[in-house]
Amino acid sequence: MIGTGLMGEPLAHRLLGAGHRLTVWNRSPGKTEELTTQGANVAATPEEAIGECPWVLTMVANADALSEVLLNNRSRATLAGRKVVNMATIGPHEARQLGDQVNQAGGELMECPVLGSVPEARSGELILMFGGTPEQLAEARPLLEAFGETLRHVGLLGQATALKLTLNQLIAGLTTSFAVSLGLAEREGLDVDQFMEVLRGSALYAPTFDKKLDRMRGRHYTNPNFPLAHLLKDVGLLEDAARRDGLDTRLLTTLARVLEEGEDQGLGEADYSALYDVIHPAPS
Ligand code: NAP
Repeated sequence: MIGTGLMGEPLAHRLLGAGHRLTVWNRSPGKTEELTTQGANVAATPEEAIGECPWVLTMVANADALSEVLLNNRSRATLAGRKVVNMATIGPHEARQLGDQVNQAGGELMECPVLGSVPEARSGELILMFGGTPEQLAEARPLLEAFGETLRHVGLLGQATALKLTLNQLIAGLTTSFAVSLGLAEREGLDVDQFMEVLRGSALYAPTFDKKLDRMRGRHYTNPNFPLAHLLKDVGLLEDAARRDGLDTRLLTTLARVLEEGEDQGLGEADYSALYDVIHPAPS
């Protein structure tokens, strides 16, 4: 497992819990310590991890990080015969490009982006979306089943990533939209409990609103499962994919601006519901 951050660490625990032999590597070494006490080997470099293992799962931040760990000269030399499953959220175009480069080095790249966050990663209840051939899925299944029971074959490399982005568009869009409604309700002096009651009883309700309500009302954004900076990265990937596909990107451009402003305000590491502070600045 390459990348033991917020998501990679619990995934690594699931693999150990399922009885797999595991080697981990993380750029910042501190994040692998707890895993060693559970029986994981720690590699000193990504190429050492790749060299030791027939299967390589990656959960790093983005495609640039993925390229750095898999395709630097030393790692590239170890990729022959390796089966790599990328689980991070990157762009469909990026996934296909990386797939070609891994193939040229003699390895195989498949993908399994996930829906759900740290609690679901811990409990093995992630929704798993696989991109690759049916043969690759059959081989990868025993590993991926450690992460969740819902493992869907979406299509070829890039298509599962595209599905993941369609869902993250809804995370950004719905949360921003809810922030505008909640901000308006608060500024107009409405009873927020009543606003929520009406909303919950309507066809407009989405469960994510209740998940973020307390954080927004109390402006508590610490200990995030999914930081605002990652959502900004995903909206950038969406803009790129939508532009390539000839879709209107104006809404995505606006969402990106809201999130960029949040990052400029120092909220990049905060929970993404902190976009509420951009939409409805705290009264001074
Ligand atoms: P995270 O805690 O920030 O972890 C990012 C990981 O990438 C860390 O291990 C980090 O290493 C590593 N990394 C970053 N740049 C690197 C580089 N240049 N070279 C090598 N390693 C690098 O984030 P996360 O929440 O686990 O997210 C990982 C991926 O999963 C992202 O693509 C995210 O969009 C996706 N995802 C997240 C969630 C969620 O709820 N959090 C849900 C689904 C999907 P360091 O420890 O050294 O910084």
